[in-house]
Amino acid sequence: MAAGIRGVLPEDVAEMVSACRVLVVGAGGIGCELLKNLVLTGFQDIVLVDLDTIDVSNLNRQFLFHKKHVGKSKAQVAKESALRFNPNAKIDARHDSITNLEYNREFYMQFTLVMNALDNKAARNHVNRMCLAADVPLIESGSGGYLGQVSVIKKGLTECYECAPQQAQKSYPGCTIRNTPSEPIHCIVWAKHLFNQLFGEEDPDQDVSPDTADPEASGDAGQASMNSDKPNDGLTSMERTSTRTWAESTDYNAQKLFKKLFHDDIKYLLSMDKLWTKRRPPVPLVWENLPQEEDLEQSQESIVLHDQKQLSIKDCFSMFKDSLESIKQLYKERGELMWDKDEDAAMDFVTCTSNIRAYIFGIARNTRFDIKSMAGNIIPAIATTNAIVAGLVVMEALKVLAGHIDKCKMVFLYRTVNDKNKLFLTCSLDKPNPKCYVCASKPEATIKLNLSTTTVKTLEDRILKQEFGMIAPDVEIEDGRASILISSEEGETEDNNFKMLSNFMRSGVQLKADDFLQNYQLTINITDCDTLPDGVEFEVVSRSADTAPQPEQSSEDLKDESQPGTSRNGIQTSNSSNTNGNGQAPDDDDDDEEIIMLDDEDKTESTSKIPVSKKRKLSSEDLVSTAASSSTPAKKAKMAQLNQQDDEEDLVVLDD
Ligand SMILES: [Zn+2]
Repeated sequence: MAAGIRGVLPEDVAEMVSACRVLVVGAGGIGCELLKNLVLTGFQDIVLVDLDTIDVSNLNRQFLFHKKHVGKSKAQVAKESALRFNPNAKIDARHDSITNLEYNREFYMQFTLVMNALDNKAARNHVNRMCLAADVPLIESGSGGYLGQVSVIKKGLTECYECAPQQAQKSYPGCTIRNTPSEPIHCIVWAKHLFNQLFGEEDPDQDVSPDTADPEASGDAGQASMNSDKPNDGLTSMERTSTRTWAESTDYNAQKLFKKLFHDDIKYLLSMDKLWTKRRPPVPLVWENLPQEEDLEQSQESIVLHDQKQLSIKDCFSMFKDSLESIKQLYKERGELMWDKDEDAAMDFVTCTSNIRAYIFGIARNTRFDIKSMAGNIIPAIATTNAIVAGLVVMEALKVLAGHIDKCKMVFLYRTVNDKNKLFLTCSLDKPNPKCYVCASKPEATIKLNLSTTTVKTLEDRILKQEFGMIAPDVEIEDGRASILISSEEGETEDNNFKMLSNFMRSGVQLKADDFLQNYQLTINITDCDTLPDGVEFEVVSRSADTAPQPEQSSEDLKDESQPGTSRNGIQTSNSSNTNGNGQAPDDDDDDEEIIMLDDEDKTESTSKIPVSKKRKLSSEDLVSTAASSSTPAKKAKMAQLNQQDDEEDLVVLDD
């Protein structure tokens, strides 16, 4: 097939296109489309990095891959397929993580341009920092359902990926999950935690038993009640044996587990009577005497799809027994399990246990289909969205190569055309935020935590890596002696890992955190605080010298891009809310930019899907203004979800 678009581009730009060396990060949904576009446009020298292998679920939209490629490296196969479009192109495909140390500043400096086609925030943050460090322009892109976004980042000229505040992960207080759920998502989070407690990595923060330290409850009442109404077998919540140990001792006996989870623990919660003065109290269930729901069972007979059936308690009950049995076998075969929405038994387990819990607390139950989407936070991938986004990336790339970075735009792709009959909305790029905690000249942050209960390891993993996106931080204490608290060199400071910070510092101390690879230094002010809510390890008080939130922009500002000096907040790609949760390298085996994972596999959990009752039709005008004024990724993700629900208006109309 012929490649290149000679005669279309001005001579000098065509020259640049064939001479420049570019880096493409990601060979998934957007990456495949992008690579194909690049070779057909005449790009000749491309380095492609992707960590993933091809999954069968990729094949409906990642068209460089076919069935015979399943299990192979995405980067490698994408290269082979793209070369058939243009055999003259030179593609260096690397099946590797972009966060590896070899991809350092010097590596980035060899490129004229970097293009991201990533699926998670951690990797996006990292590439953003590397491009700032190497001073190479970066084109950032993302898609979620029908929505897409492309923007250009150039050090000193435009906002960086982290200039605008990123989505604050919505987390639920431990006591809501354990004691007083009020929404389906609370029960789903609880069910996922239960799975981990029983079969996965045990995390004390994911305890599913009643929380006796709930400040709202009266501990005494609970105690008194337990004394008078002590279950005669199994675990009482007073005994702090781990749920796992206890369950193993019963060989995961379904009846005993059911009794503990849905009867004894609920009775215990009821005894914390202060919790129920203003709430509907939960109703414990008895194994031998489950509620009859004949109406529900009869009305469901016509529903063929098992996933879309409204489940009765009886259905959930048999699902509980069956899935428990299957998972028990898996656990015996494989050892510790990771919850995976695509593992049928694991998904069934979360479906039935969350629904049983929802029933007990008088919360709406959901179908397996809905729970899967909430538990996995899936926004379906749409091949056409990715194709359009990849096209937009190339358009911006051509402007950069032509030396017209000032003409680059942030482009939004909408679900439907707006009142001006346009599917795209373009805005000028913002200037860098002088208070950005990444690209400002002296980035600074202030953190509140309890020095006596926070370990050095927590500081490193949860704060520096997860919260601030560092890969391998070194930390010095500014105590006049520049003591090294954390070293990225193996074996130097491991002894500190599980010591409390109070051994090393006092409130008001300044830390200098330095990620050598990212060429990124952050000053962190530490404030001691012993009044953080239960389950909250730390609080970021500010990410810069100034804590004031920026004002919400009006949609008008955005619609009229011809107005000079229009001030806007930063807007980030629609799935910048992606996170792989563990703050580690992008290891998402779950393919793609098209899954918006607000979910954090740690203890934060996503915003729930917007309940159907709140659903309303959005006009295209609404869409434009909502999306345009959504300055936070959270809102965008939410909007994406809202759109996703609006299935009656599926048409994307393109101007010819
Ligand atoms: Zn910035």
